[in-house]
Amino acid sequence: MEKLYEGKSKIVYSGEDPDTCIIRYKDTATAGNGAKKEDLPGKGKLNAEISNIIFEYLMQNGVKTHLLKIIDDTTVLVRRAEIVMVEVIVRNIAAGSFSKKYGVPEGTALKNTVVEFSYKSDELGDPMINDCQITAIGLATQKELDELRDSALRINELLVKLFAEAGIRLVDFKLEFGRSKGELLLCDEISPDSCRLWDMETNEKMDKDRFRRDLGNVLDGYRKVLSRIKV
Ligand code: UDP
Repeated sequence: MEKLYEGKSKIVYSGEDPDTCIIRYKDTATAGNGAKKEDLPGKGKLNAEISNIIFEYLMQNGVKTHLLKIIDDTTVLVRRAEIVMVEVIVRNIAAGSFSKKYGVPEGTALKNTVVEFSYKSDELGDPMINDCQITAIGLATQKELDELRDSALRINELLVKLFAEAGIRLVDFKLEFGRSKGELLLCDEISPDSCRLWDMETNEKMDKDRFRRDLGNVLDGYRKVLSRIKV
């Protein structure tokens, strides 16, 4: 298999069919744009399983995604797409960079759902970017941004419900999309690496903040998330 790209937590290979790619989840955990890096054996398998459950649930509810087939514990076959270089962040509760930037204590419920865009660039540290700036530098069209925002809000509704049924509060998360045959598809992963997930009763963190903030037992949190959403 030809390696197309190796990222911080996944490797992308070209599939046999040129319209496809094969993605393998790695055990590496990184934070602070790669400044903190560690191997967490088993993380790849956990994230793959969690993300696959979530993608299948979203697809059952009409969301178009790149997922074609689960190959094994850490590998999936996906539709090849041109990644939109804009990350879409959705927030229900203040946390992380939002709390820091706007001085809103972590855990504050937001009066409305916040959708933010950031420019997917490790070199620049993924800076926050608005519609006008995105269209000005040609990262996406306004029509695409409108679709990304609508899709992100729909995905949020579905995920809030899925996690609430599992006793988990969906604080915030990040989505990536790709263009394939004139359509926008949800790509990448949805896992405790890309979401903030808090226990509804205890507010215990079950996501990558355990790694970012050295809270310990990182994968215990991921395992709890998996066991609660698995039917
Ligand atoms: N996030 C992510 N990748 C990024 C940046 C953010 O998956 O490169 C996720 C992060 O896990 C959280 C949400 O997006 O669930 C919002 O992150 P925030 O902007 O608060 O940034 P952070 O605090 O992670 O720097």
